[in-house]
Amino acid sequence: LTRPKLQKAVTLVETGLERDITPRQREILEVLRRQGSDIWLSELLRLCNASSTTLKALEQKGYIVIEEREMLRQEQGVLQVADEPKTLTAAQLQAVETITQLDGCDRVLLHGVTGSGKTEVYLQAIAPILRQGKSALVLVPEIGLTPQLTDRFRARFGSKVRVYHSALSDGERYDTWRQMLLGEPQVVIGTRSAIFAPLPRLGVIILDEEHDSSFKQDSPIPTYHARTVAQWRSELENCPLVLGSATPSLESWVSIRSQKSEVRSQKSFTPTPHTPHPTPHTPLTTHHPSTHYLSLPERIQSRPLPPVEVVDMRQEIQEGNRSIFSRSLLEALQQLQARGQQGILFIHRRGHSTFVSCRSCGYVLECPACDVSLSYHHTEEGAPQLLRCHYCNYSQSHPRNCPECGSPYLKFFGSGTQRVAQEITRLFPQLRTIRFDSDTTRTKGAHRTLLTQFANKEADLLIGTQMLTKGLDLPQVTLIGVVAADGLLHLPDYRAAERAFQTLTQVAGRAGRGDDPGRVILQTYTPDHPVIQAVQQHEYEGFVAAELQQRVALNYPPHGRLILLRLSSVETTAVEQTAQAIASYLNNYMTPGWEILGPAPANILRVANRYRWQILLKIAPDLQPVLPDWQQVRSLCPANVSLTIDVDPLNLM
Ligand code: ADP
Ligand code: ZN
Ligand code: ZN
Repeated sequence: LTRPKLQKAVTLVETGLERDITPRQREILEVLRRQGSDIWLSELLRLCNASSTTLKALEQKGYIVIEEREMLRQEQGVLQVADEPKTLTAAQLQAVETITQLDGCDRVLLHGVTGSGKTEVYLQAIAPILRQGKSALVLVPEIGLTPQLTDRFRARFGSKVRVYHSALSDGERYDTWRQMLLGEPQVVIGTRSAIFAPLPRLGVIILDEEHDSSFKQDSPIPTYHARTVAQWRSELENCPLVLGSATPSLESWVSIRSQKSEVRSQKSFTPTPHTPHPTPHTPLTTHHPSTHYLSLPERIQSRPLPPVEVVDMRQEIQEGNRSIFSRSLLEALQQLQARGQQGILFIHRRGHSTFVSCRSCGYVLECPACDVSLSYHHTEEGAPQLLRCHYCNYSQSHPRNCPECGSPYLKFFGSGTQRVAQEITRLFPQLRTIRFDSDTTRTKGAHRTLLTQFANKEADLLIGTQMLTKGLDLPQVTLIGVVAADGLLHLPDYRAAERAFQTLTQVAGRAGRGDDPGRVILQTYTPDHPVIQAVQQHEYEGFVAAELQQRVALNYPPHGRLILLRLSSVETTAVEQTAQAIASYLNNYMTPGWEILGPAPANILRVANRYRWQILLKIAPDLQPVLPDWQQVRSLCPANVSLTIDVDPLNLM
């Protein structure tokens, strides 16, 4: 059971008559006075190098009081230099004014290009809310990745800022909860589960980088999207909701942006007047919340967005360049070194190589528990060479010979962060690199340490994965290299294009945030791909319009909705038979506007020794579906098969 943590504290009792004490005791009282007359006992003992007997004597004489007091377990941030509100740009000012004047559960989409100062808008919109005695809930995709953001909030609001995420210890969570329940005006910054934080008197809920898929929980159940829950909560608490992003999700774009436009072609989230039943998106309250679209179309100080140079890697090979770096990128790296500037290389994958195979017989080393190949990891000289499964984390040492034919010729294919880092060191021995991926950031605080090293110019090049894309604000970074965009483009998921566009735009947005102009070099084998074109032209609206047409044509969200049934079992026949049984049950209950896809084996059939099947239900827009009896569906599931029902799934793979 979690309880308040008690600890002894010492308080000075001022008497003015300090006669009956030794010089040593007088010294201790002086230290205590300098510390504000109130301090933890352990801290005072440490400061004075005193023993508790000495303090007991002082207590008996009535100069101090020692008592047990509650000590709050909270994640302590790095002490911040206090920071003043900035003079807002016209667009920021308009955004802050609109947000401050919102009513009830109004919703705002704050669409600001990378570096347009969205965080400053949040800060200045929150300040008056705290003054009114209310609190603010700020959700971010991943706290560890954005220590900078938490720091900026702490610099502005000091101890009113609390951090809440799933990695808190029980004690920290318990104390943070109790602090929230006190109802003092405060700012809680948290990841998706913080949407359930018991914070009374909410004045605003903000989702930063609202397009990010980490807001969705796939497993364990309950599956939920923090943005959906945020909307419900804003309706329940009657407080406004602000969604911020440089690349808004199609869901938010359609539900907020197209409300404003004359042509209401997207009706999926707009209840029509003649709908006999309320759609799932009808607010609980009778008050009709309004929606606002706010745009920050320019970077701060009118800095330009960085130009994006697309390099056709097929051309490179044709002209005899077999390196993983194009000539353009090599040249830019050389300049970086010459000018003493900093750069970031983005790689879609961590590890050294995507897979290892035998040159003699073609055998590919695979995970014994999953249907995927193992990735080669080699951290440093002398460290063991490992093969790791990125799905179940299984690892084994790298074999000398092919397990199939005994040949010693094993070859690495593809390139991950390690391989790229090694190549850089080989080609540019003077460039100091930092790898930033889930291998190098396993330990607590590693994100912050590595980013601080980079910010302090202890390295020239940051080499990392997706983790780099989120909210990093480093003014001295001038070069961004995307080593291979293709891994992102061709994922088998209807959202692949949207996700690739968001990731690449966010990566590109890390360049040129300071006084020196930035540039982005994007290497790809498919330079004509619509996503690459849109990223190059910084063209969000055009991309979204084209993407929405495809979604409409196929009834995919945000036009229409999905429910995904995920089944898994260690028994391959059990899971397949159950999937068939559930699918035929659902087929009998199908009403017009429903479509059932599957049952089908998941893209990767076996993960961690469990076989996976799925059934996808597609529901046409503007339809109030008669939902099947889920109890009945569950009863078709034997004990050795597990079933997850995911409404509005993000990940279909
Ligand atoms: P975004 O979150 O939109 O990418 P940030 O909030 O990180 O942008 O802002 C980019 C940079 O501009 C930050 O370093 C921030 O401190 C600075 N900034 C924001 N607003 C202003 C302003 N009004 N005046 C000067 N600098 C600003
Ligand atoms: Zn072999
Ligand atoms: Zn595995």
